[in-house]
Amino acid sequence: MKQVYLDNNATTQAAPEVVEAMLPFFNNLYGNPSSAHAFGGQVQKRVDQAREIVASFFKAQPWDIVFTSCGTESDNTAIRSALRAQPEKRHIVTTRVEHPAILSLCQHLEKHEGCSVTYLAVDSQGRLDLDQLAESITDETAIVSIMWANNETGVVFPIPEIAEIVKSKGVIFHSDAVQAVGKVPIDLSQAPVDMLSLSGHKLHAPKGIGVLYIRKGTKFSPFMIGGHQERGRRAGTENVPYIIGLGKAFELASAHLDEENTRVKGLRDRLQEGLLKAIPRCYVNGLETERLPNTLSISFEFIEGESILLKMSALGIAASSGSACTSGSLEPSHVLRSMGVPFTCAHGTVRFSLSYFTTDEDVDFVLEHLPKIVARLREISPYWDAEMAQG
Ligand code: PLP
Repeated sequence: MKQVYLDNNATTQAAPEVVEAMLPFFNNLYGNPSSAHAFGGQVQKRVDQAREIVASFFKAQPWDIVFTSCGTESDNTAIRSALRAQPEKRHIVTTRVEHPAILSLCQHLEKHEGCSVTYLAVDSQGRLDLDQLAESITDETAIVSIMWANNETGVVFPIPEIAEIVKSKGVIFHSDAVQAVGKVPIDLSQAPVDMLSLSGHKLHAPKGIGVLYIRKGTKFSPFMIGGHQERGRRAGTENVPYIIGLGKAFELASAHLDEENTRVKGLRDRLQEGLLKAIPRCYVNGLETERLPNTLSISFEFIEGESILLKMSALGIAASSGSACTSGSLEPSHVLRSMGVPFTCAHGTVRFSLSYFTTDEDVDFVLEHLPKIVARLREISPYWDAEMAQG
């Protein structure tokens, strides 16, 4: 069966060059980087090289890069660190459209650890009101955490501008850049971001490796306590093969960023235009604002996103829905709800996310089949019938 993988915001395929770079570190180069002997020393050197590659991608300093296990760990570490390092401050500012790695933690901190949280609203295009952001920061605010780009809609927030506002108030600023890395330029020599999270498996490195960038001078209190790895900011023996793989993935991302994003964006735009043209009553979420070049969140009125996914899956097409499927429910996602997407659209939302490996044929295949799938589902939709009867 044909395999068309358009769910790259969920995870990406590890690039073959990444896997190849990792392999020697499972057998020949197995030393512990902390060991004083040559087995350790040569591995330590390679870990440091990977750290330099990651840092240079963001125009950051190598020792501002701390390797973690995933984006969720990086996000949790940033917020908890800000609270621990400033025990007198118990207020957090974030947005309503963050990933659960931030939102669920904030809800937990409110419920169980005496924190208060301001959740900034977005408009119908997924945009933030920056005046509201400025007004929400108080003397009690320990940290402001705002994502660089949204995982569902691809909407990109103006992080350099946001960081300036937050820093002008003297507050720690963290950005979850898990979806933005490798898709839009990020220059940490220009944006005063104190901490930034990323995750390897979103940019063709394996699952199980992440980074927390911590700008030198940022108040920091570690979560993992133990050995001196990562200069005491994240104890535990380094996940060497994965760190090497991440370094290779960043090398590839640097080489491909401009060219690939033009090509990937071209494919995404062709998919978007093709669907808008072929299917009545469908709408792109966040259409009027800057979006990640690989992401298309599109709502088909009066049908269920889950049914579309099942029908596409039967043909070998993988995408994801705009439902809160992680909770086992079919409730529309918090992101679409926050944008005020009407119930009849939010339920019929599909997210396509493309990558370096997406081809013209993949897009053609979706354009050939999805209009027929939507038409068939609408034929059996009582809501569609009622709408058509009303004219
Ligand atoms: N933040 C965002 C915006 C994400 O999209 C994801 C994963 O989808 C995460 C955080 C969590 O990353 P990880 O899967 O590496 O824990």
